[in-house]
Amino acid sequence: MTTHLDRVEIDGVSVSPHHFIGGERIASEDTFEVRCPMDWNRKLADVSRGNHQTATDAVLAAQKGFSQWSSLGIQKRTDILFALADLIDKNAEKIATVECLDMAMLLESLKLRLVPRGALNFRNYAELVVEHQERVWSSKGTNNRIIRDPAGPAVIITPWNAPFMLSTWKLAPALAAGNSVILKPAEWSPLSASLLADLINEAGFPPGAFNIVQGLGSEVGAALVSDPRVRRISFTGSPETARHIGVAAAKNIVPFTAELGGKGPLIVFDDADIDAGAKKAAAQFEDSGQVCLAGTRLLVGSSIKEKFLERLIHYTEQHVAGDSQDTGTTLSAAIHPVHLERVEGFVERARKNGDKVIFGGERFWQEKLWYKPTLIEPVSNESEIVQKEVFGPVLTLQTFDSESQAIELANSTDYGLSGIIYTSNAERAERVGRAVRAGTVWVNSFLIRDLSAPFGGYGISGIGREGGDYALDFHSDLKTLQILDGSVS
Ligand code: NAD
Repeated sequence: MTTHLDRVEIDGVSVSPHHFIGGERIASEDTFEVRCPMDWNRKLADVSRGNHQTATDAVLAAQKGFSQWSSLGIQKRTDILFALADLIDKNAEKIATVECLDMAMLLESLKLRLVPRGALNFRNYAELVVEHQERVWSSKGTNNRIIRDPAGPAVIITPWNAPFMLSTWKLAPALAAGNSVILKPAEWSPLSASLLADLINEAGFPPGAFNIVQGLGSEVGAALVSDPRVRRISFTGSPETARHIGVAAAKNIVPFTAELGGKGPLIVFDDADIDAGAKKAAAQFEDSGQVCLAGTRLLVGSSIKEKFLERLIHYTEQHVAGDSQDTGTTLSAAIHPVHLERVEGFVERARKNGDKVIFGGERFWQEKLWYKPTLIEPVSNESEIVQKEVFGPVLTLQTFDSESQAIELANSTDYGLSGIIYTSNAERAERVGRAVRAGTVWVNSFLIRDLSAPFGGYGISGIGREGGDYALDFHSDLKTLQILDGSVS
């Protein structure tokens, strides 16, 4: 560790590229570079690259922070969570500016939707933990209570897409439950989380209750999840990484939730508003397709294929690729050259496999990171492009002749995170909605989510559920306290 704690200026916003441990900024000797996806020649920061020792120090700080935070009591803790939510709102412009440059998410969407949602996550859990404190009931001559005890330090590991908002939906329930936290943001977009660290002392958290460690997953991430003093691990990312973390969690017998990738079906029936379905399909290209919940497999009734395709092309042509800071932009750059090469690899292998590229299939500009919206008609349902998550602006188009075939296709991958159905028939909405095997299924809409609803995936899309009471239960040690009626006075 060193004490060089310089900050960097990013479009007028001062950002610390260092860890936040025990209420203080701490730097590592080693660093890693973070660049702007919209201009890869632009280095944004050299960020502290944590190692095994950093992880050990952070867990020790979180242990100390845990005893203070968990003993504060619910009322004081919720006051601090509300204070943090207010500070996020106050700093929304700065957070949106940095995240836009860090991962090329659309600035408007960050300002209006994602950063406010981050604040809402803290408010929501501050309310929920008070409203849903204990469950009490009588049975068989006894009084029964379910008590939620804080579990201990929690490690929270997040992916590079929508990093600020995604981290808050994990941090909020962990902190509300009384756990201390160590957040490890993804190395490709670590900077907006660092702004959160600036707000932690001001909100009133005791030192060590809320720590942020920067670095690579295979280094500091792996060290954090292997530390036996950690009592909860909450992860969002790819199934491959989840397998490694799952092994570490199993060794220490630590509960672990995983929100993983998706390959959601977007089903349009012939009785649907076809125009609305096609418009929503074209919307899946936004954020460069880097959305885990996206409906990337378009399943369309055979009889409406031509009309659907004509409307999809119409709406796709209205997209504008450009700088994510500009209001008119709807298509952002890919996060990183390595990720874009991965997306290109999928499309090249699809071509070699005989899958037909209907539109797109190349970059907008050769030396830059924008990829064109791409639609592929696969030769078979077994094609890699249908079965594996691309995490780019690449959709597949398949047709079906019956409702049962639509359901069979929808359920034919190993994933099960989300599904989208377009139909005007209420009975069909209910039938197909129940039959699609996915954690969240939307009918005639997308991405509208009540924060109290469970969120997670079937199959390789995840383990456990977040949202509402589900996340509070996960972050607690649940105790049943049973007292024989009339035995105490
Ligand atoms: P990733 O699995 O490569 O990395 C995620 C995080 O894990 C990063 O912070 C990384 O540093 C860390 N990590 C890597 N190896 C580790 C290890 N051995 N031990 C501990 N931590 C380690 O995923 P990504 O590429 O950052 O994100 C994209 C993936 O995330 C996609 O599959 C996407 O669908 C998924 N995702 C899922 C959701 C959801 O809610 N289900 C939301 C967003 C993204």
